[in-house]
Amino acid sequence: MIKNVLVLGAGSAGLLAAISIKRKIPQLAVRVVRSPDIGVIGVGEGTTPNFPRHLFDYLNISKRRFYELAQPVWKIGIRFIWGPRGRFDYGFGHQLDSRWVDLPRPNGFYCDDDCTGTDLPTALMARGKVFPRQAQVPAPDVQGWHGFHIENRKLVEVLELVARSVGVDFVDGKVSGATRGGEGGVTAVHLEDGQTLAADFFIDASGFRSELLGKAMGEPYLPFDKTLFCDRAVVGGWDRGPDEPIMPYTTAETMDAGWAWQIEHEHFVNRGYVFCSGAISDDDARAEFERKNPKAAKGGRVVKFRSGRYQRAWVDNVVAIGNSGGFVEPLEATSLMVVCSQCETLVDFLLHTGLSPTPTMRRLYNELVADVWDEIRDFLGLHYKLNTLLDTPFWRQCRAETDISAIGRLLEFYEENGPTGFSRHLLRSTANNFGIEGFLVMLVGNKAPYRGRHTATDAERAVWEGHRRAFAEQAQNGMDVRESLACVRRPEWRWFGE
Ligand SMILES: Cc1cc2nc3c(=O)[nH]c(=O)nc-3n(C[C@H](O)[C@H](O)[C@H](O)COP(=O)(O)OP(=O)(O)OC[C@H]3O[C@@H](n4cnc5c(N)ncnc54)[C@H](O)[C@@H]3O)c2cc1C
Repeated sequence: MIKNVLVLGAGSAGLLAAISIKRKIPQLAVRVVRSPDIGVIGVGEGTTPNFPRHLFDYLNISKRRFYELAQPVWKIGIRFIWGPRGRFDYGFGHQLDSRWVDLPRPNGFYCDDDCTGTDLPTALMARGKVFPRQAQVPAPDVQGWHGFHIENRKLVEVLELVARSVGVDFVDGKVSGATRGGEGGVTAVHLEDGQTLAADFFIDASGFRSELLGKAMGEPYLPFDKTLFCDRAVVGGWDRGPDEPIMPYTTAETMDAGWAWQIEHEHFVNRGYVFCSGAISDDDARAEFERKNPKAAKGGRVVKFRSGRYQRAWVDNVVAIGNSGGFVEPLEATSLMVVCSQCETLVDFLLHTGLSPTPTMRRLYNELVADVWDEIRDFLGLHYKLNTLLDTPFWRQCRAETDISAIGRLLEFYEENGPTGFSRHLLRSTANNFGIEGFLVMLVGNKAPYRGRHTATDAERAVWEGHRRAFAEQAQNGMDVRESLACVRRPEWRWFGE
């Protein structure tokens, strides 16, 4: 039976895992090894809605304290500068996997010419607003369908405070090796200063180094390089000017050899160019980035990464969480989403097995994690395959060679039947925030052709436009990020349940 847990790594993944385990299974002793020398990756600033839900509903962290210390701003979707429309929005609502009762077809069938404002989040995005306004008081109606833009370093600082407050212990040092026991698992890790730390369960949250799963256990790595060709990012940005509005969404903009994010912090605009090193050199990528972002500080740092996952995330008594177990480029800001869902599943499985995990439970966990990563790989691959905005060699290669054969049945179904939510039954994984909604937004947003088209009658068109107008009016009266921040910072503001 597990009694002691050692978490290697004090980045966001390690801290979220430590807090989740300690909070939900308080009888376990949980220690985190933190290396001030190596530090954290320092990127990873956009989230999906499951992230605030994990913090506030699952871990019961005080919203008031978290907002004070971490200073997140809200993100309600992604604006894609992408595809034949030139631009479309992907909001965290139900814009396309949805049908009005007074219309015969789901929303996607009415979006040939215009796919904006089909639900409240996208209507808000179109107007630079983040939440509807409450009816009785001048305050935002903070909806559950938001994620965050949050600075990685601030997040890590706050998570460390929370971890300490729930009883997680910290040891400073750099792990230099691990001892394997007779049954195959790890029995202890060794620090450079000579300390040996024993435990009976290990979380590898050492980031791309994957010290335990990759190095000590030698688990095979499965690269996603047939589907995702980008492997580097130039990271930069600028201090926000008073005249620059804080957009309630991440922007993903097509670039010559990849794409650029714009992440909106309150006082800083974080920009980064994710590119393929086989298609452009670091210097040329930096030059393109600086040319298209004249406000960005010169000489942004280049971060290298690889997209892929380890064959199994849980081997014997080692579970990898975060970048140590798998990573895909941040086109949909998926890493923290996967971290949260992995933490919840792991806690459930540990509790269910009375802290003596069975081989079949481990196998199921590994299958679930693998399915999540593989489905996200294919979802991101679809973004590349369909983007016709630029005709550079990189984008021609993406359209021709991106391997999305694993979702062949889904695409065939769409091609025959159009943008209907029935295609959800062809997805493998349910443990991510995108689901069929994300696939439909990518297909319709990029005008992927399908047969069996529906020609709306004038009466249907009038009903459809009526719904969009209602969202537009509500959104027009909504609040933007600055106004909403000012409200939730008033001393009299009370978060629901606190
Ligand atoms: C360009 C880029 C953009 C990204 N954008 C997003 C995004 O928008 N949204 C998102 O969710 N994710 C994003 N990510 C992923 C993001 O990095 C992760 O979500 C998140 O930071 C989790 O990181 P981690 O804790 O696994 O790794 P890290 O932050 O790297 O933490 C690893 C920890 O392990 C420690 N460590 C490593 N080796 C040792 C050792 N030998 N001894 C002791 N300690 C050790 C390090 O000191 C560190 O504390 C992005 C990643 C990249 C590369």
